[in-house]
Amino acid sequence: MEVTASRESVVGDLTVRRALPRAGRRTIGAWCFADHMGPATVTADRGIDVGPHPHCGLHTVTWLVAGEVLHRDSLGTEQTIAPGQLNLMTAGRGVSHSEEATGRYAGDLHGIQLWVAQPEATRHGPPAFEHHAHLPRVEVPGALGTVLLGSFAGATSPARTDTPIVGTDLVLHRTTVVPVDRRFEHGLVVLDGAVRVDSEVLATGHLGYLQPGRDELRIESDQPARVLLVGGEPFESPILMSWNFVARTREEIDAAHASWNDDDGRFGRVDSRLTRIPAPTPVWAASPARGEP
Ligand code: MN
Repeated sequence: MEVTASRESVVGDLTVRRALPRAGRRTIGAWCFADHMGPATVTADRGIDVGPHPHCGLHTVTWLVAGEVLHRDSLGTEQTIAPGQLNLMTAGRGVSHSEEATGRYAGDLHGIQLWVAQPEATRHGPPAFEHHAHLPRVEVPGALGTVLLGSFAGATSPARTDTPIVGTDLVLHRTTVVPVDRRFEHGLVVLDGAVRVDSEVLATGHLGYLQPGRDELRIESDQPARVLLVGGEPFESPILMSWNFVARTREEIDAAHASWNDDDGRFGRVDSRLTRIPAPTPVWAASPARGEP
């Protein structure tokens, strides 16, 4: 297992630990971004507060350990999410959304937001949103799994996937051995506590990466712990990620930036009291020598 530390970053009012992308590790299957946020204390009217911003070429996956967040998007969706539930937004050619305080919840906020890159076959398609209030849960010796995406230990999530991937929340009571697909590469993000895999310690804020070729994964823990297991078939092509956009070429990214900043309708409108976030200049426009953020 390769272990890398996350970088701290600020999103809205929250400090987050960015586990993906990493230098030298842009994707795990189609998973291309992971921000572990909190635990933080929020009030009814001040918390995550990420104003309207656009996406293309990806799905956003929101999963909470504690707290509540209100999602609004340009499809007209207004959906509160609570722990154990899944918000899955498909950007396709373009969508915009905000993530807001609910107006009533105060307390701990703790969760993770991830992005899944869309393949060529769907990335120019229409935007969509799914909320899943109930997801399959499966007991394995030593742990309880909740299947966010794909299949795990015989249980399959009802949520949309465009490529062969898996995302499973694992609450460990002790050491567990879980079945995994040998065609998949995998990543582990520790949400609570610490675990050991292949004799390496993986603590909160670290990303563990595992190459394809395993039928099972032994996750050791003496204490209760919680990890998110993500995986998938190595992605079909390299991706180009800039700000909130996933594409393949600089021209596509430049066009997305211009569409959002010109508000030409491609990304729609979000009915939000929060301030719309402008697209920053792509790094290659600011510093032409480098191709990626
Ligand atoms: Mn977003």
